[in-house]
Amino acid sequence: MRLIIVGPQGVGKGTQAKILANFKGIPHISTGDIFRDNMDCHTVLGEQVQEIINHGSLVNDEIVNRMVVDRLSQKDVQDGFILDGYPRNADQVEFLDQFLDQRGQAIDLVVSLVAPKEYLVQRMNKRAQEEGRSDDTDEAISHRLEEFERQTKPIIDLYEKRNLVVTINATGTIDDVSKTMLAMLMTRLS
Ligand code: AMP
Repeated sequence: MRLIIVGPQGVGKGTQAKILANFKGIPHISTGDIFRDNMDCHTVLGEQVQEIINHGSLVNDEIVNRMVVDRLSQKDVQDGFILDGYPRNADQVEFLDQFLDQRGQAIDLVVSLVAPKEYLVQRMNKRAQEEGRSDDTDEAISHRLEEFERQTKPIIDLYEKRNLVVTINATGTIDDVSKTMLAMLMTRLS
């Protein structure tokens, strides 16, 4: 099964993606995590993207697409995966479509997590205090939310047109949200 999880920063996307990956027994692929690992290890890629990420902007498509192709070419994802944080704009959707199409594969479902903006800002401020992520400054937080509205929200419409989207209200506890999400998926995929 090939899934995408999409939602604004602070909505709990990473946490729910891990729960879903565990439940379905498929690898969780987070482009943000791959970038952060590279920054932590000071790789060439990490150095290249650090400033962009700290500013809350999107890394250019060529770099992200190449990274995703590398990951999706590995053996463990041939029977399925959950993509978290990718695709993030219409060009990335097109790139992913072509990549999967060449392999006779396609996305099965897109989980869209939603929550009001005030809730997201509150969650991100809390995470900034707890985890101290380098892109959790006030400025970067608001820039990332703008980027989501401008670039990522339109891709949900693209997948809606293909009737692939399941929308989940993500304002409850982690447990509540995951229960709703898994129940809706079972219904959709049965
Ligand atoms: P995330 O952990 O998904 O919030 O990603 C953290 C940061 O990594 C984002 O704010 C972007 O700077 C960068 N990033 C992650 N995925 C992508 C993507 N698909 N396209 C462009 N930039 C990305």
